[in-house]
Amino acid sequence: MTTLKQLYCLQEVDLDLDGVNGRIAEVERELEGRLSLDKIEESLEEAKTRLQEIQSTHRQLQLETESQRERSSHLETQLYGGDLDNPRDLEALQLEANNVRHALEQMDVRLLELSLQAEDARSQISAQEQQLTDTQSAWEVRQAQLWEQLEELTDKQEELKKDRTSLASDVEPVELNRYEGLRRSKGGQAVAKVMRGLCQACRMSLPTQQVQRVRNGREVVLCNNCGRILLPG
Ligand SMILES: [Zn+2]
Repeated sequence: MTTLKQLYCLQEVDLDLDGVNGRIAEVERELEGRLSLDKIEESLEEAKTRLQEIQSTHRQLQLETESQRERSSHLETQLYGGDLDNPRDLEALQLEANNVRHALEQMDVRLLELSLQAEDARSQISAQEQQLTDTQSAWEVRQAQLWEQLEELTDKQEELKKDRTSLASDVEPVELNRYEGLRRSKGGQAVAKVMRGLCQACRMSLPTQQVQRVRNGREVVLCNNCGRILLPG
């Protein structure tokens, strides 16, 4: 016959196993996480792309500026070369030269803006690269700790599983079923001690007669209130 003590021992091992399994899941989650690193890498990539875009716009605009500058100096030569004597042509040329000069001024302002933006992007990139390096070193240390913890926990888990198998093999199948059903429905605790007339799981006071039956230990007594298997404390 299965003794209550056997069930209680089984429960001790099962509760330890629950704890170990929970910690293994936490460690594995953290190992898979790498969240902070991923985020920094992502925003670093974004900043690099932004810098490339700024630089390419800058190059494009610089080429345009050069050709406008050539055009401007060509116009100036024409204007002041003295080859034109028709006032209307001169006026048109003057207007065109003014337009080109004005466009060049605007382009210079835009080039300066782009240079400043590129400078911002570069300092952002270098700050993020530094942050990434720091986070990476911190992560390497943490990762090593986590792998070590995982190894210890897995060893412990194996040990507990062996204990569990051996303890469970001594329990009658009907009792084991009831125990496992209660564990599932009662948050992992199927067996509760009775101390000073109280069920130690739900803290309810039990009738004296019931406490007596638990002490006698000749039958399985369930708590009136929570339905757990009672064990003398
Ligand atoms: Zn109870």
